[in-house]
Amino acid sequence: MQLIDGKKIASEIKSEIALEVEQLKQQGKKAPHLAAVLVGHDGASETYVAGKVRACEEVGFKSTLIRYEEDVDEATLLNTVSDLNNNDDIDGFIVQLPLPRHISEAKIIEAIDPRKDVDGFHPVNIGRLVLGMPAFVSATPAGIMELLRRYKIETSGKNCVVVGRSNIVGKPISILLSQKAYPGDATVTLCHSRTKNLGEVLRSADIIVAALGKPEFVRADMVKEGAVVIDVGITRVKSDQTKSGWKLLGDVKFDEVAPKCSFITPVPGGVGLMTIVSLLRNTLKASRKEIYT
Ligand code: NDP
Repeated sequence: MQLIDGKKIASEIKSEIALEVEQLKQQGKKAPHLAAVLVGHDGASETYVAGKVRACEEVGFKSTLIRYEEDVDEATLLNTVSDLNNNDDIDGFIVQLPLPRHISEAKIIEAIDPRKDVDGFHPVNIGRLVLGMPAFVSATPAGIMELLRRYKIETSGKNCVVVGRSNIVGKPISILLSQKAYPGDATVTLCHSRTKNLGEVLRSADIIVAALGKPEFVRADMVKEGAVVIDVGITRVKSDQTKSGWKLLGDVKFDEVAPKCSFITPVPGGVGLMTIVSLLRNTLKASRKEIYT
């Protein structure tokens, strides 16, 4: 069994990006600039956005954080999106989700200029991804693809089972793994809460991507010998074994599944750390106008 070390790969990629930023600066060009819009004070969103801003600083990007209180109205947010779209100094930006209920996430996402949509949530980017055109790919699926690539994991002709069909993880990774490319060329089955005989479907998998948000759902008896297991799930649970009083669990029961695997990602230290570096890579691509030339 080989552990897929997301921490190591994420750190390598950050160094690569930092080097590219340094080269841009030496050529007299400006550093990539990412803006983030954060509404309210949700603890998880605050942590994610702080992590993104910190990562920008680490690689030499410029970052701007725009904050609003929970009761901000939709029109104000749409105006901010429009300002960011028109601000030539901003290469890419994200609006941290979830938004308060009185704001339509779909409306906000659709208002973002696809050329600056470094989260890859805009329908244009999702459509381009489906068509195999250059697109901003959402950060978590892009991070998974990079892990497969860096560990040279064979995907062609493999049976791949994705559990979870969300727009940000399950659906895009299922499309990416079935694309005519490497990593890709897999035969993909996309499962969800209505899937029958999920255990049986999982046992047929050469590659499992677990993205359902149910801690330790995937057990050893659902995994075949030699499978590759990518655990996307992150759930915070109470724990009396840690100082903080809580710990993070993945969707896979790691201790019993790992001995059966050829490769497995741990939680924490696997896919999660790749998500932020994928956002940085998208911002670098946006600044170089690589996707939309
Ligand atoms: P969502 O809640 O949006 O989607 C969950 C999906 O899992 C749904 O499609 C749902 O089915 C399916 N599902 C739920 N229960 C079952 C079940 N018992 N059997 C089969 N399918 C089931 O989740 P996300 O995609 O946003 O996130 C999934 C997990 O990944 C979470 O733990 C989240 O925290 C984590 N995550 C981690 C990231 C990272 O950076 N590592 C980034 C994003 C998410 P249905 O559609 O039928 O309801």
